[in-house]
Amino acid sequence: MEKLKSLVEQLNKYAYEYYVLDNPTVSDGEYDKLYDELVRLEKETGIVLENSPTKRVGGEPISKFKKHEHIKRLYSLDKAVTIDEIRAFSQRVENLTGKSPDYTVEFKYDGLTICLTYDNGVFVRATTRGNGITGEDVTAQVLTIKTFPLTIDYKGTVEVQGEAVIKLSTLKKYNETASEPLKNARNAVAGAIRNLDPKETEKRKPEILFYNVNYLSDGEFKTQVEHFDFLRKNGFKVYDFLRVVSNVSGIENVLKIIEEKRKNIDYLTDGAVIKVNDVSLRETLGFTEKFPRWAIAYKFEAEEVTTTVLDVTWQVGRTGKLTPLGIVEPVDLGGVTVKKATLNNYGDILRKNVKIGSRVLIRRSNDVIPEILGSTFIPETAKEVELPTVCPYCKQPLVEDGANIFCVNKECKPRVVGALVHFAQKDALNVDGFSEMTASVLYDKFGVKKFSDLYKLTKNELLSLDGFKDKKSQNILTSLENSKTCSLPSFIFALGIDGVGKKTAKDLVKAFKSLDGLKSATALELFAVKDIGEVTAQAVSEYFASEENLSEIDTLLSLGIKFTEENSTASDKLLGQKIVLTGTLPTLKRADASKLIEQNGGEVMSSVSKLTTMVLAGEEAGSKLDKAKALGIKIIDENEFLSMLK
Ligand code: NAD
Repeated sequence: MEKLKSLVEQLNKYAYEYYVLDNPTVSDGEYDKLYDELVRLEKETGIVLENSPTKRVGGEPISKFKKHEHIKRLYSLDKAVTIDEIRAFSQRVENLTGKSPDYTVEFKYDGLTICLTYDNGVFVRATTRGNGITGEDVTAQVLTIKTFPLTIDYKGTVEVQGEAVIKLSTLKKYNETASEPLKNARNAVAGAIRNLDPKETEKRKPEILFYNVNYLSDGEFKTQVEHFDFLRKNGFKVYDFLRVVSNVSGIENVLKIIEEKRKNIDYLTDGAVIKVNDVSLRETLGFTEKFPRWAIAYKFEAEEVTTTVLDVTWQVGRTGKLTPLGIVEPVDLGGVTVKKATLNNYGDILRKNVKIGSRVLIRRSNDVIPEILGSTFIPETAKEVELPTVCPYCKQPLVEDGANIFCVNKECKPRVVGALVHFAQKDALNVDGFSEMTASVLYDKFGVKKFSDLYKLTKNELLSLDGFKDKKSQNILTSLENSKTCSLPSFIFALGIDGVGKKTAKDLVKAFKSLDGLKSATALELFAVKDIGEVTAQAVSEYFASEENLSEIDTLLSLGIKFTEENSTASDKLLGQKIVLTGTLPTLKRADASKLIEQNGGEVMSSVSKLTTMVLAGEEAGSKLDKAKALGIKIIDENEFLSMLK
């Protein structure tokens, strides 16, 4: 009983912070874990307390807003985290209906439920879900959103349901200049809509993705697919993904596709929603106190968690920029133990109110190290993070430039090691087998600081290093020898000029044709090149104005670096594309198609994987095409391919 009471109390506190204040202090994963524990205890004891969160949907509407009673009640969704739980859901559906129905599978957006009412074809009101029966009237706030229709063709009374969301890219932009960054897209949108000042709503640029018709006065739908069709026909924004499947293995396949696709879509999603497609069966199945029995949410592994900041250290990068790194109390995030989390710069620490000892929300991103989103709790004992004044490695004074601080000592070890690793990477000089560890040892033992120092190393020197036997030493020397023949854009990229990535290096070579041409280009001429900004133009011009840099380039050339003929590509039309060829193309030979892809900046892949961006398919394409379809990868034919290059 004690445990039950304390769980209910704790969960209600979290739910209040989440639903009413739009400012959660724990991650959804942590909340869900406690909630599941409560469900288990309630089942075990048969006791459900009066104020248990398992009995209610969402939070109470707050008095700041006018209350509105929904024409038809709105529900939450039961959740599953494993396929076995989906199987159990489908089994229940079959037992209750005596049928094995089709299911629809769609994305689950993580935002704020919004319900719009229309009467006689005209928008009347927007409300939040609230406790499911009564919501908050947020009409004034929602009217600032441009992406829903004010009039529709349907002339009866209708309530449509959707999720208010903020694009991840919009949130990122907003946070770049916000005095207090918003922690995540869900809180950002909830705070935007449940804000008494509609101007604040407008500033955060929310939109609504619709997925359900909750009430319709005249007419009826037979299926979920018809819900989507109605929404689309009446001008509501519907995310273009709805699959109909006939069994659990079909559901499983679509979940795999959704899990892949969600990495690239610009909205925060936390799972998929599986619904019985046949509306007449939904009536048979009905609702529990909180959920429909005909739908379930499949939630993906948690991407956010809270933990405590133990310390903040500063990393020095290849450009000398210092980046703060949060050392956090080890915590499990999606099966990985996280001990470090990134912050952008000192300003970021201040804006996110991160202190040593504060509890923070961290989010797993595509990068290896998760990011600190902001503080959720700051104990009195927490300490301010201090801005360093000297480099943590070489102890030289630091220099401030804009939002960042820099170590300007070019010989500072982490800078040199970073530059050497950048120089040797695959897309630069491609020195096979050259690692950060190797760079570090070479710096310590032989004072290797310049790129050209690498080409002066002897086998005896390498053999004298710990762990460098004959084979390893020879391999490094051979890789260095092979790296001497490279393309001019790779060489320019390898130099590590500020702001010059792979694409910019290609653009520069295309514009100035040769190394000499580039060396003599003025900042103005550089700035005139498409896609090259003022800062990069300045950095390139300064780089080639330095005697030291020019002499290093001469030394590299005298040591045997030479450029292959194919210096410039025909275009960048396929830049970033990873393309798989399959089947027989009507006119192009495979080799010609591959060449065209590479000449236009793309990459040819031999097999279809998650990294593939496009499949060029001809006659009798086989398993590669099937796999691409299963992964939802774009498939094009020869005509489309050739028109992309025009
Ligand atoms: P939910 O968000 O898990 O799922 C139900 C909601 O999903 C629906 O109401 C709807 O708004 C939304 N949805 C998105 N896409 C949909 C689609 N395609 N079809 C149908 N619905 C779709 O449930 P909930 O009741 O809104 O919130 C409960 C969850 O909130 C908890 O599981 C927890 O993760 C989180 N929570 C967190 C805290 C915290 O402190 N961090 C506190 C309370 C609740």
